[in-house]
Amino acid sequence: MSANPNTPATDNPVDRKGGHLWHQLHSEREDISEALLKEFQPRLESQSGGQEMSTDEALRTADWQRLTEKWHRTLLQERLLKIDDALDRLMSGSYGNCSRCGRWIEDTKLAVDPAAAFCVYCWQRMETRH
Ligand SMILES: [Zn+2]
Repeated sequence: MSANPNTPATDNPVDRKGGHLWHQLHSEREDISEALLKEFQPRLESQSGGQEMSTDEALRTADWQRLTEKWHRTLLQERLLKIDDALDRLMSGSYGNCSRCGRWIEDTKLAVDPAAAFCVYCWQRMETRH
């Protein structure tokens, strides 16, 4: 008795990749949550003397720092939302389909970004609108 080497691959490619994707998305999600927690931690900045900054300059530096931190936080939060969305779609079975037109998102795009929510066409349309 020999097993048939040509086992027909009838299962959905998303189902086959589902477990792997789930872990990939989850580990990225954890990384981001961790990074966000670190960002939110109050920084203990000792303003030890030495180089004296003018109040104006110090304010501008603080503003800039706040701004970059806020920008970074926003990026992380957006990414987190995108991953949550992808995990939701993975659970509901609609993963891999464009959230806008319902078209299948190419495997190549999902390989680059497993959290991709839109097909190349919709993404391009959104990008060029700016
Ligand atoms: Zn689309």
